Formats: sequence, C-alpha cells, structure tokens
Amino acid sequence: MTNDPPTTDRNEAIVDRAREVIPGGAQTGLRAQAYDTGDVAFESASGATLTTVTGERYTDYHLGFGPIVLGHAHDAVDEAARGAIDDGVLFGAGTAPLEVEVAERLVDLLPSVEMVNFCNSGSEATYHAIRLARAATGNEKVLKFEGCYHGWHDYVDVSVYPPADRVGERYPESDGMLSAAVENTLVAPFNDPEAVEEIFREHGDDLAAVILEPIPHSVGCLLPQTAFLETLREVTEDNDVPLIFDEVISGFRHSPRGVQGEVGVTPDLTCVAKALGNGYPVAAVGGRADLLAQAGGDNESGVVISGTYSGNLPGLAAARETIDTVVDEDVQGYLTDLGDRYREGLSDLLKDRGVDGRVVGHRSIFSVQFGVRGDPRDYEDVVGLDEERFRAFASGMRERGHFFTPNPYKRHHLSAAHDETHLESYLDDADAVLAEL
Ligand code: PMP
Repeated sequence: MTNDPPTTDRNEAIVDRAREVIPGGAQTGLRAQAYDTGDVAFESASGATLTTVTGERYTDYHLGFGPIVLGHAHDAVDEAARGAIDDGVLFGAGTAPLEVEVAERLVDLLPSVEMVNFCNSGSEATYHAIRLARAATGNEKVLKFEGCYHGWHDYVDVSVYPPADRVGERYPESDGMLSAAVENTLVAPFNDPEAVEEIFREHGDDLAAVILEPIPHSVGCLLPQTAFLETLREVTEDNDVPLIFDEVISGFRHSPRGVQGEVGVTPDLTCVAKALGNGYPVAAVGGRADLLAQAGGDNESGVVISGTYSGNLPGLAAARETIDTVVDEDVQGYLTDLGDRYREGLSDLLKDRGVDGRVVGHRSIFSVQFGVRGDPRDYEDVVGLDEERFRAFASGMRERGHFFTPNPYKRHHLSAAHDETHLESYLDDADAVLAEL
C-alpha cells in the first residue's frame, strides 16, 4: 500500500468543518494535537485495515488506542452486539443474563476478581476503584506512578507526561483540575521499591490506594521488576491499603488472566476496559468481594457506583464474545509470537542501519524509541527520547501505508487480523524509512 498525504478535497472539507464545530477538530482534542492525527478523516475499518474518506488504506497499528484486539469489524463480536441491539440495548433496572455471564467470566479469569461492577470506560473504572478504596480506608491520598495514565479525571491525571524539566514533581496534566484532588495524589517513580517504602513511612496512615499499570504502556512499555511488585503487595497489605491494578490496556490483550495472572501478584482491585469489548464501550472494576460489596446499594454499604449506560447490553454481548474468542483461540499466543517477530525485525533494522534507538514492548504491543538505549526502568528513562526522529519515522511509514500515532511516547498494537504479510511489508518499509532518516 502506498499513499500520498491525505490532501484531497473531501478530506480537507471534512477536517475544516470539524475544526469549526469540534474543539481541535477531532474528538477529545488530544487526537488532533497530542497524537497528531487531526489532518485525516477516516470512513471505515475492517480487519487490520483503516480506510480514509478518500479511499486511502492503511494497516492500522493504532487500533483505536488498543481496544481492537481481534481486528476491526470482527464478525462474531459484531453479530453478538447486533443480537443484543435487536433485544433492546438498555434496561436500567434489575440485572440481565448477559451481565451475570460476563461477570462470571471475569471472576473465573482474573485472579483478583470476586465481584464486578460494569461501566463504560477505563476512566470510570479507575474512578470507581478509587472511590471504593477511599470508602474502605477512610483515607484520601492515592499513590500513583510517573508515566502511568489512568484516565482523565482529577484523581489520577497527574504526572503522566511531565516535561523533562518537571520530572519528579507532581504535575497536573490539565488546566481546570481541582487542587485538592491533585494535592491528594502522590507520585513516585515506577520500579522504585525504596521510593514506595519511603512514601509509606511518611503517608502510610493517610493512604487510600496505590494504583498502577502493572506494565505501563502509556510511555511505550516499562516492564515491572519483580521486587517492585512484591514490595507494593507487601506494603499495601501491611498497611491495609488497597492495591489497584489498572489493566485497561493489558487485560484481554496481553492475557485473559491479566498481567496479574502472568506475574503472580494479586491486587485488591482491577480495572479492565479496551480489549474487553474489542472496541465496544464496556469496562469493569472488579476485586475483593468486601470492597465491591460497599457498592451494594443497601443501607450498610455507602458507596455510590452509578451510570445510566453501565451494563449496556451491546457492550456486554461484545465482551462475552471477545473474552470467549481470546480464550478459545489462544489469541495471546498468536499475538505474542507475532509481536516478538516485529520487535526482533525492528531491532535488527536499527542495528543494521546504525540507528541510535531501542525497541520496547510486550506481547502484542511495541514501540520504537530513538535516541535512547537499554531497558527503560521508569519514566525518566523514556522522557529524553528523540521526538523529531520518531515523527519523521511515523510520517514516512504513513506515506507507505502504515498508520500509528506520531506521538513518540505511544505504542503500536497488533490484532488477530495482523499477519505475516503485514509484518513483511512493515519491516520492508521501515528499512526504507530508516535509511532516509
Ligand atoms: N487506564 C489506562 C492504562 C489507559 O490506557 C486508559 C486509556 N488510554 C485509561 C485508563 C482510560 O480509559 P478510557 O479512555 O476508556 O477512559
């Protein structure tokens, strides 16, 4: 696939109209600015292919920021969702067989999960998890880690991407945040058990929760050191502070049992979204029964977890089908093998072409980061990367038909619809682009 930049009239007309009525010209604004994809309008997607309004076709490595684990417009998932649409999308009362069936699957698969509440996005899930933890402990402070993203709300949108000269500070990511929320969010470097112990010595009695992406993919990929995860589990247990794993990216993408199932560290609460529904809006917070039971709605249990669309049936039908497919077809095994081959191929290209950089990732996720070497341990090891070079790489790849955000801190995703052909074409084109950089 070879494409010229999307400058044809129809694309421009839609993008111009979008800029008049949508802030930034694309939903959430960030899609246009921080992720630099605001100059193109897409019409459709199928399998591993994204098609623009002017007919250019791209192999999609963005995959909607990661949810599309089985491929776009997956027949069985869409059929399941369509079935739910035919039967009424929302009851907003009582329960429904689908709710129970998906909840039971999460309880069976995710080691930490004894009970489940559904919601519609990862941000809602982390919000609910923190509220449950605050209610259980009576405390307000939350510890998070630099470089981890847990959604847009004030409790957690702190120190995700601090600029290089603000690393180590508590850095609110947005204007308009409640200062009391920011002040109650403590931040530590990832993979630093001593920093965590220090924070517990100082604030242990005031902490409500510790939240982390067990593999932080918001900055490419930081692999967790065992000692770090074990320390987290120990200090949180000793201090009766709930440990929250944000598996919004990793859940059902890396493994149906989550990273928690891979590393053998079981948190108290778990958030899943994204790959749970292969792109349909469905998410969940699950965990220890005593924590979840606080949201039971009787007089004894005072936590409000609410949401008109929570438990919407097309989302749950998509989730049931996605979970069953991921488990039955060993999608994780396939994607791990394919991901390894992308990573090896790209690393070889960097070496052969003498390009300063590294390839990081895990299973179906990878990132190429220029101007940095070695295995990154924390955010500080990532923030110095060569942004310009990555943007040039992304742009060259896009001209050749490979789509991913030119944001250098983001990642490529693979889906079950990606195969050998995509791999070969990606590596051939990457070689040509690297030669030109
Ligand atoms: N947690 C993580 C790890 C995420 O990557 C994201 C989304 N990028 C969220 C939470 C928030 O999810 P959502 O965008 O669905 O609110």
